[in-house]
Amino acid sequence: MKLFREKFAKMSKEAPDSQAVLAETVLNYINDGVIIIDHTGIVKLINPAALRMAGYTNAEDAVGLSYLSVMKLENGEGVSIPDSQNPLAQAAANNKSYTSRDYCLVSAQGKKIPISVSLTPSGEKNSDRIITFRNISEELKKEGEQTEFISTASHEMRTPVASIEGYLGLALNPSTATIDDRARQYLTEAHAASQHLGKLFRDLLDVTKLDDKREKLHLVPTEVISAVKEIADRQVVALNTKHLNYTFGSSQDVNGKLQIDQLAYAMIDPDFLQEIMNNLIENAIKYTEEGGSIWVNARNDGDNVLINVTDSGMGIAPDNLEHIFQKFYRVDNSATRTIGGTGLGLYIVKERVEAMRGRVWAESAFGEGSTFYVSFPRISQEEYDRQMMIIRNTQMMSIKPSNQVREAAANAAGTLFSVDQANPAPFAPTAAPIPTPTAPAPAAAPTASAAPTPVASSNPDVSGQSTGEDLASDLSADKLAELKRNFAAQMHGGPQIGSQ
Ligand code: ADP
Repeated sequence: MKLFREKFAKMSKEAPDSQAVLAETVLNYINDGVIIIDHTGIVKLINPAALRMAGYTNAEDAVGLSYLSVMKLENGEGVSIPDSQNPLAQAAANNKSYTSRDYCLVSAQGKKIPISVSLTPSGEKNSDRIITFRNISEELKKEGEQTEFISTASHEMRTPVASIEGYLGLALNPSTATIDDRARQYLTEAHAASQHLGKLFRDLLDVTKLDDKREKLHLVPTEVISAVKEIADRQVVALNTKHLNYTFGSSQDVNGKLQIDQLAYAMIDPDFLQEIMNNLIENAIKYTEEGGSIWVNARNDGDNVLINVTDSGMGIAPDNLEHIFQKFYRVDNSATRTIGGTGLGLYIVKERVEAMRGRVWAESAFGEGSTFYVSFPRISQEEYDRQMMIIRNTQMMSIKPSNQVREAAANAAGTLFSVDQANPAPFAPTAAPIPTPTAPAPAAAPTASAAPTPVASSNPDVSGQSTGEDLASDLSADKLAELKRNFAAQMHGGPQIGSQ
C-alpha cells in the first residue's frame, strides 16, 4: 500500500493528467482487486483492494510470489481448491479467459470472502494475465433474499391456482355443470390461463431451487436407452392427442449407418433425466403441428451417450437458436405467440444436464423442425456392474437382518458394520433410487399404444434378485463375510457414487 502511495504522489506531482497517473488512480481507488501476473503465474502488480481482500499489508509482500499463494480459493462447500484443480491456474496456463462466481477467497488470516473473479489474457502466450475480483457477499445476500421471496411466493400461489384450475375444469365438464356456449368459451380461456400460471409457478420453484443450489445430485448407474424410452413412452397420451407420429430408437443412426441394438451406460440422476426428457418432449409436442412426427433416440456415441429429441415442427431461426437456453427467453413470432410457455423449460434442462457433466444443444431449420441433443459421459459395462454391486451391497447392509442372521453377521462382520438393532447400518444408502437394468427396446419404433416398459424404477428389487429382506434371511455367516470383503474392496477401490 505504502509503495503505491509514494509512487502515486511522485507521479501526480510530475504529470497529474497523464494516462499513466490516471490509470494508477483507478488501480488505487477502485474497490475491485486487480492482480497482474506473468505467464508463469508470478505476481507483478497487486492493487490496494486486492491486498486488503487477500489479507496483505504491503504490495512488496505479494509481488514476486506465485498468485496461487496470494489467492487461495475454496469452493461453495468450503473445500479448498488444490492448485492442480484451480480453474484460474488452468485458464492462466492455457492463456484463456475465465470468469466465475463459485469461489471464496481465503485471506492470509483465514477470512473467507465470496468473490466474482475473472482472468483475462493480455496478448500472446507469454504475455501477462490480468486477474480482477470483487467481494460479492452483499450481492449474494440480496440474491438469496430474492430467491427466497420468489420461492415462497410461487409456493403459496400454487395452491389457489390449482384450486381455480380444478373448479374451472368442473365448470367445463358437462357432467358436473351446465353452461351456455359463450360461458364455455370464456371459461376455456380462463382454464388455459390458470394452467399456464400453474406451470409458471412450478417452473419458478424449480429455478429457485437451481439458483440457490438446493437441488442435490444423486447419480446412479443407469442404462440410458431403456430409461429414456420409459420416460418418452409415458408421453404417448399427449402425442396421441395431437395425432403425432412417435418413433423411439432407430435401426439407422443419424448418418444413415446401420446401428446395432446396444446398451448405453452413464451415471445419471433419474429425477433430473426425467425432467430433462419431459421438457424436451413436451416442447417437441407443443411446437409441432398436428400430424407431425417426433423421434426420440438414445445411443452410444464415442465416449458419450447421446440422446436426441427430433421433431418435424416449426423450427427455430438461427438468431433465436443461440438464446433459447437463457432464462425466460421465448421466441416471439406469429407462430409461437399463441402457444403458451414460460421460457424456463430449456434453462432448467441446461442446468440439469450440466449438473450431470453433460452437454445440451439444438440444431434447427426454421419451418422444418428441430433436434435437441443431450450427451452424457459414458461409463463401461464393467463400471456399471461395479457401481450396481456397490449399491446392492450398501442397500443390503442397511436392512435389519433377522435374529439368527444378525448374530452371524455380528461374528462375521467384525468392525466393518454394526448390526446393533438400534443403529442397524453405518453405510445406509443415500436413498438414491436404483434403475433396473433391462435390455433396450427393439430398434423398431413402438406404436403409440405400446405399453411402456418399467425400467428406471425406484424398486430396490434389482435385476430380478430377491429383495433385501429376503436376501438377508438367506445369508449364511460365510456369505456375509465374503460380502463384507467385497464391499470393503469396492469402497476403497473406486469412485464414490451419490451426491457431489
Ligand atoms: P417455453 O416455456 O416458452 O416453451 P422453453 O425454455 O422450453 O420455454 O423454450 C424456449 C423457446 O425455445 C420457446 O419459447 C420456443 O420458441 C423455442 N423452442 C423450444 N423447443 C422448441 C421446439 N422443439 N421447436 C421449436 N421451438 C422450440
